[in-house]
Amino acid sequence: MNQTSAMTDPSGLSGGPSLPQERKLVTEIPGPRSRELAARQRAAVAAGVPTITPVFAQAAGGGVVVDVDGNSLIDFGSGIAVTSVGNSAEAVVRRASAQLARFTHTCAMVAPYEEYVAVCEELARVTPGDHAKKSVLLNSGAEAVENAVKIARYATGRQAVVVFEHAYHGRTNLTMALTAKDMPYKHGFGPFAPEVYRVPTAYPYRWLTGAERCAEEAAEQVIEKITKEVGTENTAAILFEPLLGEGGFIEPAKGFLPRIAAFAAEHGIVTIADEIQSGFCRTGQWFACEDEDVVPDLVTLAKGIAGGLPLAAVTGRAELMDAAHAGGLGGTYGGNPVACAAALGAIETMRELDLAGRARRIEEVMKPRLRAMAERLPLIGEVRGRGAMLAIELVRPGTKEPNAAATAAVVAACHRAGLLVLSCGTYGNVLRFLPPLVIGEELLNEGLDVLEEALAGV
Ligand SMILES: *Cc1c(COP(=O)(O)O)cnc(C)c1O
Repeated sequence: MNQTSAMTDPSGLSGGPSLPQERKLVTEIPGPRSRELAARQRAAVAAGVPTITPVFAQAAGGGVVVDVDGNSLIDFGSGIAVTSVGNSAEAVVRRASAQLARFTHTCAMVAPYEEYVAVCEELARVTPGDHAKKSVLLNSGAEAVENAVKIARYATGRQAVVVFEHAYHGRTNLTMALTAKDMPYKHGFGPFAPEVYRVPTAYPYRWLTGAERCAEEAAEQVIEKITKEVGTENTAAILFEPLLGEGGFIEPAKGFLPRIAAFAAEHGIVTIADEIQSGFCRTGQWFACEDEDVVPDLVTLAKGIAGGLPLAAVTGRAELMDAAHAGGLGGTYGGNPVACAAALGAIETMRELDLAGRARRIEEVMKPRLRAMAERLPLIGEVRGRGAMLAIELVRPGTKEPNAAATAAVVAACHRAGLLVLSCGTYGNVLRFLPPLVIGEELLNEGLDVLEEALAGV
């Protein structure tokens, strides 16, 4: 296969799975080339776009990102749970390149094409539930969430949307309203969309009466609020992340989501599972909802769907998806053919390499080591997550007080040592681990060594 020649960049480095799988530091982090680019970035790029890692990327593949100074960093971020199949994965490059040469855009609403239909067929197969399903393809996660809300409102004739504490759903106006965090997502950007009601999340580690009572008490509070404050007949949808992402990789206490889903079904409320971060094999199953056999009416999808190309979707019950009039859904670029071809390549890769199984294996390697670190270091309050969506919550030793300063220090130390990690959490005190599902085990363990050293150093 000679696809590499087409991808080779002037430095002679091509990305993808053939990139040497090693951590290698040849300059300090950031190196001189990255610092030069950072200066240009400060002059030309809006300050509101944050920079999490101080290095500029040159190539990436498998479990590494190589920067413009030639440093090779272990990737525990996957571009925020996007490149689950690895950067420039073989099937993604092959299919997207072929599509790129054939045509780049006709607009799916103007002259439709097979790739769009094929992606919708695949989404009907892989998402939870064996009911009849249809999909609409979009560009970003936030756009998918907006459309899911539009569909639920139209189909039910109701307006209220119920969302959870610690939720993250995007940065557009409606999705800011749906998101639970002021800084940095909402601060100064109001007014926000109305008819959004927030209810408690079953967050076991921080449930005041203890983890054992969390699922039941949280479900009762949610049901009471919807019944008394919002009104079930006014409620179009309950929107939830089956495993919360930006809010801190919170796994809702077992039993909570099935109870909420049953309540919704009883009252004709549409359940929308936001699987944008947790989907596509990330948690060791195709979708995180499957863990408790919750079958949502609608699912929002993005991030891991297309190996890095921008694509998003709402997939759901055919009768709901068909409710809105023609022209009510869509968009100029939604379901771009190159992104669709990439998605077909990514889904093919997930099947062929059994990436859900790889995610479970990553958990098997990482969790015991993270737990051992937690035993030794009172800085770690909790180890949680599933598959390759794992996290540690950092606290002041001996308390549950969030420790954002230590979290930032660990992230910076990891970056300096060649490990790309991200933080998250309402309190900024959670280190999240989202390695590409194709990462090798040696690299995974080396990344954990770096993390352990960084944790011990704060
Ligand atoms: C990232 C994310 C979004 C927003 O997706 P964008 O593509 O950034 O608009 C929505 N929901 C969840 C759960 C996410 O993780």
